[in-house]
Amino acid sequence: MNVFFPKEHINEARFSLTGETAEKFLKKNIDLYVEETVQFQDALLNNLIETAKVKTVSRQQGLSSADIICSLNKLSLDDIAHVKQDTLVVSFLDPFNEVELISELKNRSISSISMELVPRTTRAQKMDALSSQANLAGYSAVIIASNHLEKALPMMMTAAGTISPSKVFVVGVGVAGLQAIATAKRLGARVEAFDTREEVEDQVKSLGARFVKIDLGETEKTSQGYAKALTADQIKKQQEGMKKVCSSSDIVITTAQVFGRPAPKIITAEMVEAMQPGSVVVDMAVSSGGNVEGSKKGEIVDIKGIKIIGNVNLPGEVPTHASQVYANNIFNLIDEFYNEEIASFSYNLSDEILTNCIVTHKGEFINKSVKERNN
Ligand code: NAD
Repeated sequence: MNVFFPKEHINEARFSLTGETAEKFLKKNIDLYVEETVQFQDALLNNLIETAKVKTVSRQQGLSSADIICSLNKLSLDDIAHVKQDTLVVSFLDPFNEVELISELKNRSISSISMELVPRTTRAQKMDALSSQANLAGYSAVIIASNHLEKALPMMMTAAGTISPSKVFVVGVGVAGLQAIATAKRLGARVEAFDTREEVEDQVKSLGARFVKIDLGETEKTSQGYAKALTADQIKKQQEGMKKVCSSSDIVITTAQVFGRPAPKIITAEMVEAMQPGSVVVDMAVSSGGNVEGSKKGEIVDIKGIKIIGNVNLPGEVPTHASQVYANNIFNLIDEFYNEEIASFSYNLSDEILTNCIVTHKGEFINKSVKERNN
């Protein structure tokens, strides 16, 4: 079996193979190919390439001859035109928005796995790329915000005066939110957090932060533990409840997402303007519609001295570690379903990990939600 790792797009510093995972693949006699133009900072991977243990090929050659193609970002329609039938393509696929792309994969009978759709189960944790990247994104959000803030985060008692700790408010306490809280606490900030799932209160407190209580009435969850969308009335109540906390915060980090739907708009322009000039807002949901009114993808917007950061690739700010954990997710996924006897990936369609994360196989949609939305 051979696996090809194509070059990512120009603004992507992460990669889906590392020297460490390359060695693990090679031990299983899986042949590895990387696109010839990629430059690596990874000494071990460079060494494997120099000694031809990992081979280099042109993009077109790699795409057309691989059994499996792995990347972070999805392939383009032009790329897919070169991929042969029954090849497996693995990446973040954004399958609910990339309707044309997944239809093309299905029609060309190319198999595909969407890393977003790996289920949140104990067995699948080692393949959970949403979590591995969200964790680093939460960290990066705090580091970037503190770089833009004109204040220090910790309290300092000096002969020249006492500096009070900066206040950080984290909205949405999933994987990214928890890491943002932990990072801001380690840097000495005073941290508050809110989530519509009240059960996260204990996790927030265990990190030394305060949980902001807002009575929204009944809030629902999916069977996978994701929050469901709030009603317009509940969003209004949430905004009222968060107004005061936002206005007294130096940094607001929003991570609120609702699976498969646009992110809820929970911070209004009025709430931003009520913050002190010099404050910073990081909208971590900017790619899926944004939690903050006025945030823009890939831009820093200045509203009356308050910066709204719309960085779309926060894990990419720490590419070495983001690549390390993503490459591990990829290796663990292939390893879990690699059948050494026949030297190929085995599509066990009664395995709940595969029935969730496979988008297309043998000319059909496999994931239930993708199937429902596209048939
Ligand atoms: P996510 O990125 O989908 O959403 C981020 C957070 O935003 C969630 O905590 C959600 O409740 C919250 N949110 C939604 N609407 C909101 C609103 N209006 N206001 C404030 N917050 C709002 O979440 P995630 O990080 O992918 O985690 C989702 C769930 O999956 C969590 O329960 C998490 O602990 C769980 N999880 C489980 C596993 C596992 O068991 N293997 C792995 C990862 C995550």
